[in-house]
Amino acid sequence: MIKNPVPWPNGARCAVAFTFDMDADSLLHLAHHSSADTRVAAMSMLRYGPEIAVPRILDLYKRFGMRQTFFLPAWCMERYPQTVDMILKEGHEIGHHGYLHEEPNRFDAADELYWMQRATAVFERMIGSRPKGFRAPAYQFSRNTLSHLVAEGFLYDASLMGDDVPYVLRNDAGQVIELPSHIGLDDWPHFQTSRELNYRATIKPPEQAMAVYAAEFDAMWEYGGLWIGVWHPFLSGRLSRAVMIGQLIERMNAKGGVWFARLDEITAHVQGLIDSGAWTPRVDRLPYYEGPIPELGDAPATNAD
Ligand SMILES: [Zn+2]
Repeated sequence: MIKNPVPWPNGARCAVAFTFDMDADSLLHLAHHSSADTRVAAMSMLRYGPEIAVPRILDLYKRFGMRQTFFLPAWCMERYPQTVDMILKEGHEIGHHGYLHEEPNRFDAADELYWMQRATAVFERMIGSRPKGFRAPAYQFSRNTLSHLVAEGFLYDASLMGDDVPYVLRNDAGQVIELPSHIGLDDWPHFQTSRELNYRATIKPPEQAMAVYAAEFDAMWEYGGLWIGVWHPFLSGRLSRAVMIGQLIERMNAKGGVWFARLDEITAHVQGLIDSGAWTPRVDRLPYYEGPIPELGDAPATNAD
């Protein structure tokens, strides 16, 4: 089913990474810059992430002896420095997730680079090192993002959905390793509804979300894939869902042969396999297209936006 399964460490059947994107109230300030301070209920919903959920998630990881990856917009690192300290103290990784959760593909190349570098400067100032990995806010990886990641020395990206195992993104500037996930393993479609954030999924019982996550896990376990949950503390750190996460980890442990790892550890393993010739990744060459396809150039309007 998977043409080039990765030889995972110690003969593991699959690799698993729970990643939490702690966006907190960056989302609200970005969506409603001039009135975010008046939207107190929405603010409280989002602040639940750093205040309540992250400590709970860290306790959960500690109970199972797991080290995982968090992605934080750099503004959230500045606003919630105690959260950064808590995450790093437990041996977890923090990856780059924009400055204020701005979407890269809304910018030209220069402005996208400005925000990327502004966020990286926060890592250097607060942590003393540059981030190894990047996840584009709202998956909005742009046609310039890969070149910027290469120029800025990133080792991996975790924004795309093009495979079941790690693969390589390459262009004329160079390459990075892609650690893919997909929207079914994101928690927004399962749990999020918010007028302020203009997103209205039908909220599911945790068991239904878990059925999706577990089915994906079983398939990845069977065929040697990479399972990456893309979750948010203010959603999946809510009590009933945090209970569910504990049950999911227990289920994975009971099955056995699972490599729980941070994304930088998965990247290092994969890069080592590539360097030694032990495994060859699939390569996606970017950009997929140089611009809009010409076929519809002079045709009457369609419903394409
Ligand atoms: Zn995010």
